[in-house]
Amino acid sequence: MDHKGRQNNLREVFAKHRLDALLVTHLPNIRYLCGFTGSAGALLLTGTRSVLFTDGRYTAQARAEVQAARIVIGSKAPLLAAAEWLAANHKSLGLKGPQRVGIEGEHVTVAGRSRLASILPHKFRLREAPALVEQARMVKDAEEIERIRTAVALGASLFDQAVQAIRPGVRETEVAAEMEYAARRAGAEEMSFPTIIASGSRSAQPHGRASGATIPGEGFVICDFGVILAGYCSDMTRTVYVGRPTAEARRFYQVVREAQQAAIETVKPGVSVGEVDQAARKLLRKQGLGKHFTHSTGHGVGLEIHEAPRLAAGQGEALRPGMVITIEPGAYIPGKWGVRIEDMVLVTERGYEVLTPTSKELIAV
Ligand code: ZN
Ligand code: ZN
Repeated sequence: MDHKGRQNNLREVFAKHRLDALLVTHLPNIRYLCGFTGSAGALLLTGTRSVLFTDGRYTAQARAEVQAARIVIGSKAPLLAAAEWLAANHKSLGLKGPQRVGIEGEHVTVAGRSRLASILPHKFRLREAPALVEQARMVKDAEEIERIRTAVALGASLFDQAVQAIRPGVRETEVAAEMEYAARRAGAEEMSFPTIIASGSRSAQPHGRASGATIPGEGFVICDFGVILAGYCSDMTRTVYVGRPTAEARRFYQVVREAQQAAIETVKPGVSVGEVDQAARKLLRKQGLGKHFTHSTGHGVGLEIHEAPRLAAGQGEALRPGMVITIEPGAYIPGKWGVRIEDMVLVTERGYEVLTPTSKELIAV
């Protein structure tokens, strides 16, 4: 990973955002910029220097992982250690005049900000910086895309476990357990999020985590799951049917499948994420299911399971080659059933590539 290049790209936009330095505290952003994967850290980027602050638990790990940054092991919270280091070193760093230090407004607490302000000398001004690292992370480089492909392949292999385990009378948690055991056996670091197995009328809950409920003899089961491999997440959803699908169930499934396909087919560079969302929504609306599609169409995936861009109504972000997004429309009839189908999609120079290899034919178990 080109950590130095990533840091320098960020420095290039400092002036535009009226910043002299950036204090990065969101752990996935720190990992992206210098490779550090510990659970406590702060990365200070000035115009010329990069310094990672962490604590004594991570001395060896930081030495092994961190690239393109000096490491400072402190005994305090990394954010405060960074502020004290700046206060002690600003003269030798040649920082003259007022200094504008950007902080990640979405990730610093109100208390953290006031502690920072009380430690820093007066010439430092804290500014809430835009989500610069998140914006950079939206477009993946070749190495990241490779890692995502590997995670997607491992994630997809778990669907077979689900299909084998889903039977009337089996608890949802047992299905999730089979999948998660297989994931760990195959080398997954962890699941990207708590596995969703939502059966019977629970399938009408878009985020029905696997529960103690037993799978009924008839109806849809939504399986939404993913793994983390080499830091990168996968995310997919398939909905299966227990028993013999009725004509009504088949039609319902088919409409969601067509909505998903319609959204996928709009994907190409320059198209806004809002337009992709509209494509799915329009199709469901035409079939009278518009009001039952109660969430956004998708999201970026990478070091985090949900990252920018968000594929939702009114979002203007334009797709660019190298973005990896999910497309996951669904329809949910409260008290009855629900269906969702989700793939991961790579935006290419000319259009798109669906990364998820799994068939979308309705499977009856
Ligand atoms: Zn999902
Ligand atoms: Zn998703």
